[in-house]
Amino acid sequence: MPDSLCYKITPVTAYAQNSSLLWCADTKEAAFVDPGGDIEKLQQAATDVGVKPVKILLTHGHIDHVGFTAKLAEITGLPIIGPHEQDRFLLESLDEYGAMLGLPHSGNITPDRWLCDADKVTLGNQTLEVIHCPGHTPGHVVFYHAPSKLAVVGDVLFQHSIGRTDFPRGNHEELLHSIKQKLIPLGDDIEFIPGHGPNSSFGEERLHNPFL
Ligand SMILES: [Zn+2]
Ligand SMILES: [Zn+2]
Repeated sequence: MPDSLCYKITPVTAYAQNSSLLWCADTKEAAFVDPGGDIEKLQQAATDVGVKPVKILLTHGHIDHVGFTAKLAEITGLPIIGPHEQDRFLLESLDEYGAMLGLPHSGNITPDRWLCDADKVTLGNQTLEVIHCPGHTPGHVVFYHAPSKLAVVGDVLFQHSIGRTDFPRGNHEELLHSIKQKLIPLGDDIEFIPGHGPNSSFGEERLHNPFL
């Protein structure tokens, strides 16, 4: 299938974080998105669908999303891409958060590439657009693949809910602005994979999300 991006979701960590494996249907090149934990399961998922991981993508710096990135990068040698540099303070204090929350993790990380709004990330023949969506965290990014009408939105938006903003440097107004000005306008028919819980679409949330 040309123009096709495929995905498989593996819930990881005690927070059932949706870690997704994305891959190009043409080339089978794949990316691990948000490897928060259970990296054996993530690697098994890649083996099961017969794809070749080439990079690690991060939506934001919370430990349930990035906790085992250091270990996965060490084992596989894959580059770490994202989030926006405004989440540097989170990636550099994973040891602290891990101890505080009692969550297993594999240490602090510094990405090989920080992302900015409107950057592009390629995966085989597919191009993902980067959308900076601050609010839940200041450096949160969303990965959007226009041809397959799919977005990976992390903890910005959920089915009938939105991201928490009571964490350090969270900002409720900014989050609403990100959702209403940057995501919803992409179109009602865009399906999204949230950081937790079931997939939904921007149209469903525009009409039925009580927070919007
Ligand atoms: Zn989060
Ligand atoms: Zn989360």
